[in-house]
Amino acid sequence: MELTPPKHHPEHVIADAFIKLGSNQDLTAEDRMILTDATVTGLHDHVNPALAKWRKSGDARACEWKGSGWTLWDLAGNEYIDCLGGYGVFNFGHLHPRIVQAVQDGLMRMGIHSQELLNPWQARFAAKFSEITPGDLQYCFFSNSGTESVEAALKFAMMKTGKRKFIGTINGYHGKTLGALSVTFRDVFRSPFEPLRDNHAIPFGDADALAAAITDETAAFIVEPIQGEAGIIVPPEDYLQRIREITHERGVLLIFDEVQTGMGRTGFDFACERYDVTPDLMCIGKSIGGGIIPMGVTTGTASVWEALEPNPFIHSNTFGGNPLACAAGLAAIEVLLEEQLAAKAEATGEHTMARLRELKSDFPELLREVRGLGLMIGLEFHDADMGKAAAKALFAEHVLVAHTLNNPRAMRIEPPLAIPIEVMDDMLSRFRGVLEALRPVKIAASV
Ligand code: PMP
Repeated sequence: MELTPPKHHPEHVIADAFIKLGSNQDLTAEDRMILTDATVTGLHDHVNPALAKWRKSGDARACEWKGSGWTLWDLAGNEYIDCLGGYGVFNFGHLHPRIVQAVQDGLMRMGIHSQELLNPWQARFAAKFSEITPGDLQYCFFSNSGTESVEAALKFAMMKTGKRKFIGTINGYHGKTLGALSVTFRDVFRSPFEPLRDNHAIPFGDADALAAAITDETAAFIVEPIQGEAGIIVPPEDYLQRIREITHERGVLLIFDEVQTGMGRTGFDFACERYDVTPDLMCIGKSIGGGIIPMGVTTGTASVWEALEPNPFIHSNTFGGNPLACAAGLAAIEVLLEEQLAAKAEATGEHTMARLRELKSDFPELLREVRGLGLMIGLEFHDADMGKAAAKALFAEHVLVAHTLNNPRAMRIEPPLAIPIEVMDDMLSRFRGVLEALRPVKIAASV
């Protein structure tokens, strides 16, 4: 998309507008325009000129301003229903007051840890986290993102087994650092960086393929319980149980990547609980920091952690498990449990999926499939162009939804878990309007 060239403003005018933005003062229409121009120019000139071209929303000048719960406002003052949820970051909504308070309180004491004294927040978080994670997952390793939580899981699996190879799934997504990328099987992200580690991809949902792929060199199988970036793919009912049996029998570790499915998203605290299966290692990110502080966690069993005892610093990073992240994470766990967010996600998800299925039967020429679990919902269009056009039209209706990195025909709906049913209904009626407007376009394209 071509940008209307932004106006250039004098530096002191921009600086004043940013001070007002940062200190939450009222913004005039002039301030908003200056901030928007400075954002567009700054990103273009100093981040990446191609960013605007890749915007899916169709409004290359919409800049974020503030968020609360499931609502976002842009600098022009437009209000959006956030059904994108930061691709899984905002399970607790934007700026949940309890999590904000925990972070503000934390800032009165320690921001980042000393790296030498013991960190009480880390200990408390890990103890509480082990109460909500399934089965015998007991220990935590801390980092700052999903991809780092995967890096750690891969290295721990190598240490535990002494083996070097991994099996992943076609279209599985685990992050873009080199280790995580080596188990992320999508060519567009991989090919510029090959050769990566010599790993192997099998079809998602096919337990027999796993049994056939394991060799004496396999350290672990890494898999998302429900594939996210691939377009929300729910596996066959017995899949997780079967891969658990196979990995146990063959002495291979099982790593679940719950970066996107975790923390209540699917109607369970963790999606693997839906299938009553516990992995050896589990990767968590995105919403674990309460949508406020970046955080990644790799959790594992005592048996895996034995391999880390000879040298607990064999893998480490500076900021992981800092007091602020742990304070945010602890508050996030409390909110998850006290607000019964998993149960809310299940109920709102069922309602939404039933209404989406009605839309699918009303617009069969546009919508191909509705699928998901809890509030991790995927909608598949018959063709990618219609999927993109619908996401863009929804944006014009002030609804944010997610496109999927690995499957452009699919649209994802992942709102904050406490989103009220009436708000979802409002979103669904806007979506009906969008589909009605797209139907003639589709018919015209096919004649
Ligand atoms: N694993 C999964 C399942 C994800 O969805 C993502 C992010 N989309 C990641 C890992 C990587 O997380 P991050 O972007 O925080 O590195």
